[in-house]
Amino acid sequence: MLVVTDDGPRVVSVSQIFERLSADFRHAALHDSLTGLPNRRHLGERGEALARGNANLAGIAVLYIDLDGFKAINDTFGHRAGDEVLAGFAERLGRIIRPADVLARLGGDEFAILLVGVSEMQALAVADRVVAGSSVPFDCDGNILHLSASVGIAMPGDVPAEPELTRLEALLRHADGAMLKAKQAGKRQVARLDGHDEAAPIARNALIRRRLPSAFETRRFTLHYQPQLDLVSGDNSTVEALLRWTDSELGMVSPAEFIPIMELSGDIHRIGLRVINEVCMQARRWLDAGVPRRVGINVSPVQLATRRVVSELLSALARHGVPPDLIQVEITEGAAITNLPRAIGQLQQLRDAGISIALDDYGTGFSSLAMLRNLPLNIVKIDKSFIDNIDTSAADALLVRGVIDTAHALGLKVTAEGVERPCQLRLLRELGCDIAQGFLISRPVAPDDLPPLTARTPLLEWH
Ligand code: C2E
Ligand code: MG
Ligand code: MG
Repeated sequence: MLVVTDDGPRVVSVSQIFERLSADFRHAALHDSLTGLPNRRHLGERGEALARGNANLAGIAVLYIDLDGFKAINDTFGHRAGDEVLAGFAERLGRIIRPADVLARLGGDEFAILLVGVSEMQALAVADRVVAGSSVPFDCDGNILHLSASVGIAMPGDVPAEPELTRLEALLRHADGAMLKAKQAGKRQVARLDGHDEAAPIARNALIRRRLPSAFETRRFTLHYQPQLDLVSGDNSTVEALLRWTDSELGMVSPAEFIPIMELSGDIHRIGLRVINEVCMQARRWLDAGVPRRVGINVSPVQLATRRVVSELLSALARHGVPPDLIQVEITEGAAITNLPRAIGQLQQLRDAGISIALDDYGTGFSSLAMLRNLPLNIVKIDKSFIDNIDTSAADALLVRGVIDTAHALGLKVTAEGVERPCQLRLLRELGCDIAQGFLISRPVAPDDLPPLTARTPLLEWH
C-alpha cells in the first residue's frame, strides 16, 4: 500500500498497517484520552497480572482519589478549564509515583494508584503527598483555582475476600469506601477503613455511586407524590414530590440513601434541576385537568449553596406557566447550611416570588430554634421521629406541643410528618397542628394513583 506521510510517499505492507491499527485500538481501549493514563480496564489487567505472581497482593496498596470541588470548577469556568485541571492533576500524580506503580484515571475526577512493593508507612506517606499535591492552586488561563483531593487507602490486610470480586476489585471498592469516609470527614484528607466502619454499608455506598451515572443516562428516576391533609379544612390538594430510583442491579434505592451521596458528589444539582422541571410539568398537567395541586419540592442546602436554584425554579415556573403559589420548597436537613446569609437571601427571593418555604425534618440534624428565627419560613415540618410516639410518650407530646406553639407564635404553620395511626392524628389535632402527612393518609404514589381532591375525609369525622 502507498502511504503519504509528512516525509513523502512510502510503501508499507498491508499487514504492517493492520498491526499498527490494532496496536492503536488496543492502546485506546486501555487508556484515557484526556490524560493518556491507563483506564479502569487497564488497571484491572495489571492487577490480574500482579495477582498471578503474588496471590495475596502482599506489599500492594490502593489509593482511591477524588477531587473535591471539581464540579464547581466545571460549572463556573467551563469544561475546558475542567479538562486542564484534570490533565494538570494527572501530571502531578505522575510525579509522585514510582515506575513500578500504576496510576489510572477511573473516570470523571476519580483516579486510582496501585502502589507496588510498599510498606504501610510508605503507602500512607504517598497518600499524604497526593492530598498536599492537590491543594496547590491550579493556574488555568490566569484563573487561580483552589481544589483539594480526598483519598481512600486500602491494603490487602484490611479487605476480606469477596467471592464475586477479584482481589484488586475488592481492594478498589474498599479504598472507594475509605475515600467516601474522607469526604464525609470534611474532605482534603486521607482515610482508611478500620474495624469500626461496617463494611456492608460502605460497599453499598460504593455500588450506589457506581450505578448513579447509568441511572442518569437511562433516566431511571421518577417522582412519587404524597398528599398532605389540612386538619382544619380537610383539603388534600397539597402533595410532596419524592424521588424514586429503581436500579436494574440494586432494585429500589431509597432517596435517604442516594441523596446524601449525591450531595457529596455534586450530582444533587443535576437531579435537583430534573425534579424542578418534572414537578412544574406535572403541576401544569394537573392545572390543565382542572384539578390544581400545590407541590412541595425538596431542596438540599447543598443546592442552596450555589446561586442557581432560584433562577432554575423561577424559569421552570415561567416556562410551564405554573403560578408560584402552587410551589412549596422544603429545605431538607441532611446537610448543614454552610452559608446562612446566602441561603436566607435565596429563600427570600423565592418567598418574594410567591413560593412558600418549609423547614423539613424539624428536630433532627441541623435544625435549631435559630433556624426558625432566621430563615424566611412559612411552614415547619416536625420530623417523624417525634410523631412516632406522640400517643404513648408524654414527653414527646409535650415537645411537639412546644414546637407547635412556638411556630404559631412566629406566624408559621406546622406539618406533622410520618403519621401512621388514627390516635396520632387525633392528638395532633388537639394540639393545634395544622397539616398531617403520613401513610395513614396516603403513601407516596405515582401521580395517577393519588386520591381524588376532597374537602371531606372520614379521617377527620370523629366528632
Ligand atoms: P422527607 O422530605 O422528610 O420526606 C418524607 C419521607 O418520609 C419520605 O421518605 C416518605 O416516603 C416517608 N414517609 C412519609 N410518611 C411516612 C409514614 O407514615 N411512615 C414512614 N415510615 N415513612 C413515611 P423517602 O421518599 O424515602 O424520602 C427520604 C428523604 O429523601 C426525604 O425526606 C428527603 O429528605 C429526601 N428526598 C426525597 N426526594 C428528594 C428530592 O427530590 N430532592 C432532595 N433534595 N431530597 C429528596
Ligand atoms: Mg420533605
Ligand atoms: Mg421530612
